[in-house]
Amino acid sequence: MPPQSTSTKMEEPKVEVVAESHVTQRKAANGDKSSTSDEVEGIKEWNPMDHILWMNVFWFVLLHVGALYGAYLSIFSASWKTFAFAVFTYKLSLFGITAGVHRLWSHRAYKARFPLRVFLAFCNSVSYQNSIFEWARDHRVHHKFTETDADPINSTRGFFFSHVGWLCCKKHPDVKRIGGKLDMSDILNDPVVYYQKKYYVPSVIVCFALIPTFIPWYFWGETLWNSYFIAVVLRYCFALNATWLVNSAAHMYGDRPYDRNIAPAENIVVSALALGEGYHNFHHTFPFDYSTSEWGYRINITTMILDFLSLFGLAYGFRQATPEMIKARMARTGQNGHEVVEEHEYM
Ligand SMILES: [Zn+2]
Ligand SMILES: [Zn+2]
Repeated sequence: MPPQSTSTKMEEPKVEVVAESHVTQRKAANGDKSSTSDEVEGIKEWNPMDHILWMNVFWFVLLHVGALYGAYLSIFSASWKTFAFAVFTYKLSLFGITAGVHRLWSHRAYKARFPLRVFLAFCNSVSYQNSIFEWARDHRVHHKFTETDADPINSTRGFFFSHVGWLCCKKHPDVKRIGGKLDMSDILNDPVVYYQKKYYVPSVIVCFALIPTFIPWYFWGETLWNSYFIAVVLRYCFALNATWLVNSAAHMYGDRPYDRNIAPAENIVVSALALGEGYHNFHHTFPFDYSTSEWGYRINITTMILDFLSLFGLAYGFRQATPEMIKARMARTGQNGHEVVEEHEYM
């Protein structure tokens, strides 16, 4: 089984041992190009290029062309309010990913009351990044088997693959087999997740497309055409790329102060774009931490909002790595030269 951080074992989902024989070993993250997972197991016949889903490629190309057109309309045709609304919708949709399906449902890093869970599910449907159930399943596999063939976004296959390529080809057989064996009962026991999965398509049509298209038209007289291309297409394309950067850039570029042996890195730019999800070396080392970083509110809007919501009791039961845990881990596996936070205080 690939090496895991100590903390990962705390509450990560269980995977049956039968998966081990075909799960290839994690490649040394810091530049060892000589031992890709395929070579370790000798599965040389599996190549993403042989499994391209051309319809997905077509839609992603179309989406990016549409987004460019949306950018053109924002500058030359639409009201500034429509663009501002698109920015707001982008952040709202990503909040459904960062606070919702990532920190809450995938990692159980905190607990949320029913109204907040409904709101997060709504934001999740606005984001149109697969249902909560599917997203969380892929993400748990990603953490459990980072940088192996079983990792859906295996960054050893290169920047493009981990960014968008993995969505343009069929999944590696290891991903399917292991993903299907993950215990997801904790997630499906949540009625919010269950019903979002059951009514995912209508929820996306309404939350992702119709509401953001009609709001600018209804409230400030924007054309439906402009609304759609700016608040839906452009916003969606930008939000997708921001999310994908967590899988690509934050698995390649940045410091590794907590575990120098893994690919995930601390990437401030990604944090800024993805509402605080770029502290990826920390996150893969302490995946149960609700803040995904030891730096509090520093470029981490998600943590800021969760703390605010906790004032009303909507979010609670925050789990965090203690300063002692962090220091001990850094001393054991960290990269030299990282500043140690003596007082684990937030701003
Ligand atoms: Zn995660
Ligand atoms: Zn990752």
